[in-house]
Amino acid sequence: MRLLLVEDDRELAEALGAALLRRGMASDHAATAGDALLMADAARYSAIVLDLGLPDADGLEVLRALRARLDPVPVVILTARGDTAARIGGLDYGADDYLAKPFDVDELVARLRAVLRRQGGFGGAELVVGNLRFDSVARALDVDGRPVLLSARELDLIDVLLRRPGRVVVKTLIEDQLFGLSESLGSNAVEVYVHRLRRKLEQAGATIVIETIRGVGYMLRASA
Ligand code: CA
Repeated sequence: MRLLLVEDDRELAEALGAALLRRGMASDHAATAGDALLMADAARYSAIVLDLGLPDADGLEVLRALRARLDPVPVVILTARGDTAARIGGLDYGADDYLAKPFDVDELVARLRAVLRRQGGFGGAELVVGNLRFDSVARALDVDGRPVLLSARELDLIDVLLRRPGRVVVKTLIEDQLFGLSESLGSNAVEVYVHRLRRKLEQAGATIVIETIRGVGYMLRASA
């Protein structure tokens, strides 16, 4: 799962990005409406957090352009404008929710989870393989009912693999899901996370294996 954070206040964007990451949600950052539209076109985001006061255009123009090209990505509007007109305008343009600044990060996370759940565009919240169960909305993994603590990227990795059990997931798709557009990747970045995830799942007693398909990607399947 990856979010796009559209916010021209760099300090706020950085703080928010870090706070979201601590809660298991990775994000890319766009500081202008133009960048936001380019990035939303280039990558598939789980949701967009959209500030309305942007330097090059009103955030509502971003929303309008997304909906005009039939992009159904959930959008949560974030703005200092707490007035009813802006709120109604945003919802009229196809926003999924609205949050006035200043806000609590936990409230934003709760709203994001709610719009993701409502959208249900992720094949349902619960993914089960072997004795492993993953709630992709709450971002919680358990093995035989016991919670397993994973980092944000490990959660992204198990998410992308669990959606395609028994099928090969190509490495480039995994890279897209795990890393932002701005991050430069070491050639073995995915391998490092796969290795960590395998170790944690093994320690937890998971009855699944993550096979390496050399030169192509990975495949998760039940081992029992
Ligand atoms: Ca702003």
